[in-house]
Amino acid sequence: MARTPFIAGNWKLNLTVSEGVALAKGLVGALKPGVEVAVCPTFLALYPVAQAVAGSALGVGGQNCYWEEKGAFTGEASASFLKDAGAKYVILGHSERRQYFGETDATINKRLKAVLAQGLVPILCIGETLAERDGGLLQQVLKTQIEGSLAGFTAAQLETLVVAYEPVWAIGTGRTASSAQAQEAHAFVRSVLRGVVGDLADRVRIQYGGSVKADNAKELLSQPDIDGALVGGASLKLADFSAIIAAA
Ligand code: PEP
Repeated sequence: MARTPFIAGNWKLNLTVSEGVALAKGLVGALKPGVEVAVCPTFLALYPVAQAVAGSALGVGGQNCYWEEKGAFTGEASASFLKDAGAKYVILGHSERRQYFGETDATINKRLKAVLAQGLVPILCIGETLAERDGGLLQQVLKTQIEGSLAGFTAAQLETLVVAYEPVWAIGTGRTASSAQAQEAHAFVRSVLRGVVGDLADRVRIQYGGSVKADNAKELLSQPDIDGALVGGASLKLADFSAIIAAA
């Protein structure tokens, strides 16, 4: 099953508005046919970045969103506001959100509902810690995260779903899963998805994330169940991210 490769950059709490706009403008020149590319700036930079690349094929996404649409929720941003600002995608359940901000599969499920209601494309992050992997819990953790986050949705509602498999021990550490380890996890994720959304599992893009760099991207992306990458550190520099796009 041919799936369009999807490379997304997660800028996290990096790049000012002017830095983000400059990088995004540069990335427009690095796009290539047949590869979907997006950047996920801070909430502050999202609108100016989206304006700067309007009309190009470079997509823009949020790094998170709240489940309520508006109201007395200090510090939050909703899916409808992200959409209005130019977002097409929203990252959900990143491990840093789980680790530092109390995100759970139940709250991700609520956010997912809001994202889909706005017609935005969810990038659902899942992944195990090193202790969980070493403890033989890899499959159990991934299954729980997928089933918990997707509970209550039909396959038709999840048509645009993107999943990012990001082993927590490989995020920002310089330590990447081997292509064999990543492929094994991705194949397992797809098998769990099959139980939840049936044949749609063959069309769901599953990105790999965790210290993806120009020099390991090609091998990771050549695995049959790896359909793209969610890139942190290496998405912050034009040359590095362009090289990853070129490898896709
Ligand atoms: C991420 O934050 O999703 C990520 C994969 O980060 P890094 O590429 O820096 O490991």
